[in-house]
Amino acid sequence: MRISVIGCGYLGAVHAAAMAKLGHDVVGVDTDAAKVEKLASGVAPFFEPGLPELLVESIGSGRLRFSTDIRDAAGAEVHFVAVGTPQLPNSDGADLRFVRGAVDALAGVAAPGSLIVGKSTVPVGTAAELLGRLERLGSQAILAWNPEFLREGFAVADTLTPDRLVYGVADERATELLDEVYARILDTGTPRIVTDFATAELVKTAANAFLATKISFINAMAEIAEATGADVTTLADAIGHDARIGRRFLNAGIGFGGGCLPKDIRAFTARAEELGRAESVAFLRQVDAINLRRRERAVELAVELLGGPVFERRIAVLGLTFKPDSDDTRDSPALDVAARLHGLGARVRATDPEGIENARLRHPQLEYVDTAQDALEDAELVVLVTEWSEYRDLDPEHVAKLMETARVIDARNVLDPVAWREAGFVYRGLGRS
Ligand code: NAD
Repeated sequence: MRISVIGCGYLGAVHAAAMAKLGHDVVGVDTDAAKVEKLASGVAPFFEPGLPELLVESIGSGRLRFSTDIRDAAGAEVHFVAVGTPQLPNSDGADLRFVRGAVDALAGVAAPGSLIVGKSTVPVGTAAELLGRLERLGSQAILAWNPEFLREGFAVADTLTPDRLVYGVADERATELLDEVYARILDTGTPRIVTDFATAELVKTAANAFLATKISFINAMAEIAEATGADVTTLADAIGHDARIGRRFLNAGIGFGGGCLPKDIRAFTARAEELGRAESVAFLRQVDAINLRRRERAVELAVELLGGPVFERRIAVLGLTFKPDSDDTRDSPALDVAARLHGLGARVRATDPEGIENARLRHPQLEYVDTAQDALEDAELVVLVTEWSEYRDLDPEHVAKLMETARVIDARNVLDPVAWREAGFVYRGLGRS
């Protein structure tokens, strides 16, 4: 099929390359000329494992190209909309101007009967609004909503082998076209749920709200553990054995971040308020508050461990991205902790395998170094804030030799406290005695 993907960021670039891999003829369109130039030459504009290889393969096959001109999407039978829906600057709501802009632009070029498919995460009710918009603009394209569940770090595999496909449709033809797009994925037995616009939009919002709640639940338990001398990781292991609860997403630490969960739960709260159902998701405000408190707790622990103000103290910060295997620093708890420590006057030296460039754009005031070794040298405290495997695997004996004093805050609870204590470290995790 001929496919266009409008918006080639973390979602869209992977989606475009994956659709070409499935055998389609794809054009990716983005308004960011620098991003398009990179993508067109087979270079991933951000770090995502497997994407560079997929881009090179798909471009080499002649089935994938990129453009800044929406008119290049004109011949497509299916247009995916994968533009950003960030938080509005002065409210919790989602900023829908990019989605509306992309749909307006498509209205001018999409052929009658072609399908416009929303992949961006939007507040419930958006698809219905966009359908009205298309009609007002005289477009005869049809609309569907097909939310995306990929995880950064696993985006390629999640796109090619998703655990489910959700179609929000108002028209049978939309289902037929989406089945054709995803034929090879459906052939492997992937579950497909066909529903209305509102349910499809809510599936995505509800999934993110649930995941955020699970993380904040265990972080709330961490707060109680800290007040009682209990150990939250043992607690998580124990309750996680219950199949109804499950162990995944029960890792206490400095909480969630990134370009999705934080803004999506806020947008959900804002939308529920508009719908007169604020109380139904009022708990999400608590989920958000618990999450943000854990960042502050990591800073408090630094003060505790250093025995007083952090002013002028040398602190190594390992990790800047919101999670490992990504270069994404949007709403990153790791970067936030580094910035807070710096704000208190600490001499922070921060590092990350992939996130320094993005972190520098957000917090140019921080000192960034290329390696963990550079960050650790002569430090009085090390704070592990993103659980990259190279930080999890650090040898505590070696680290102790590099540092001036052996103190560690394991803000992701991924280090072995026994091994680090044996190497002479004062070790503190979050929610651990
Ligand atoms: P992003 O900021 O990385 O990418 C968005 C891209 O859209 C940018 O490159 C921007 O230049 C481009 N753009 C904006 N307006 C445009 C227009 N009119 N025409 C063409 N291009 C335009 O964002 P992202 O992380 O890829 O997220 C995109 C959407 O997908 C969001 O709604 C997000 O919530 C959702 N989502 C993201 C992920 C993820 O892991 N990143 C997962 C699931 C869903």
